[in-house]
Amino acid sequence: MRFIYDLTYDELNVWVLAQGQKSYRTKQIYQWLYQKRATAFEQMTDLSKEMVALLNTHFHLNPLQLVKRQESSDGTIKCLSKLTDGSLVETVLMIYDYGNSVCVTSQVGCNMGCTFCASGLIKKSRDLTSGEIVAQVMAIQRELDKKGERVSHVVIMGAGEPFDNYHNVMRFLRTVNHDHGLAIGARHLTVSTCGIVPRIKDFANEHTQFNLAISLHAPNDELRSRLMPINRAYPLSELMGALKDYSEQNNRRITFEYILLKDVNDQDEHIKQLAGLVRGMNAYVNLIPYNVVDEHGFKQVDFASALRFYDKLTKSGVKCTLRQEHGADIDAACGQLRAKHEGKL
Ligand code: SAH
Repeated sequence: MRFIYDLTYDELNVWVLAQGQKSYRTKQIYQWLYQKRATAFEQMTDLSKEMVALLNTHFHLNPLQLVKRQESSDGTIKCLSKLTDGSLVETVLMIYDYGNSVCVTSQVGCNMGCTFCASGLIKKSRDLTSGEIVAQVMAIQRELDKKGERVSHVVIMGAGEPFDNYHNVMRFLRTVNHDHGLAIGARHLTVSTCGIVPRIKDFANEHTQFNLAISLHAPNDELRSRLMPINRAYPLSELMGALKDYSEQNNRRITFEYILLKDVNDQDEHIKQLAGLVRGMNAYVNLIPYNVVDEHGFKQVDFASALRFYDKLTKSGVKCTLRQEHGADIDAACGQLRAKHEGKL
């Protein structure tokens, strides 16, 4: 029996047709699942009894089981949920003036080994299916339904490396983007990668409107390889080359994420190198305050210094933003809640 959220619209349609049903049934089922948030096939009252029985024989509609929920004073909600095999995943809702953004987990654990990140404290045990990622968005949407609001943005920036789970992530994006489903606009869906170059090339060839964010965090190979092991496989020259191709082929702006780590990547030389990499590209740099993970020993840059970094980078001709911190009081940095729950922090 399959989890019905695992099927993209086209896949569900193939199944519906194979049952000898008309394809408008697919639209009905999708609307029940994602727009009316059905929790049982019996609720789909405009389907025939036969269709409901078929759905019950082939699929389950098993929601995630909520294990822990934390709400921050700024409205950030963090959920720790259990999958059917007992694996734990975190999902975060952040409230911005432009909308409600959900940060989803794409893998159980992570193998990328970035030295500052809490997710890497737990090695990857498996990829999430696309439906398990969809279910995280649905769980938050159900929270928002209480206020009559909707999930307007999704970022795949929770635990895991989405491009190490490329196909399921693409299927997830197509599912939540679909007009008959949650219909979240492609430009409101962002996939963030530490820089797996072959998958960036694949992504470029898909020619979608989904956003691409790159976790850069260091502007030279020596430092980046120390902070992010992926850089040893795909150094900056290869990464930047692939990104330029992506940007030209798709005419899309790229976001570079840059966590400010005190005395590590926050010096004047780094501003110069960063500007050298990014200037002239259709891109901007998102400067992120570090959410301290005690194990790793990195320190946060104070706000005045972050502002100085921002000013200098702007003056060097780079568009950038200084991201405000969300939910620091509830361990909202990726992997923190799960790692704490499992006694690893
Ligand atoms: N693997 C993907 C997506 C998950 S990480 C990637 O690397 O992009 C999402 C973002 O959070 C990345 O930019 C990551 O570097 C950042 N991040 C990880 N740990 C953090 C921490 N403790 N504080 C702030 N940002 C962190």
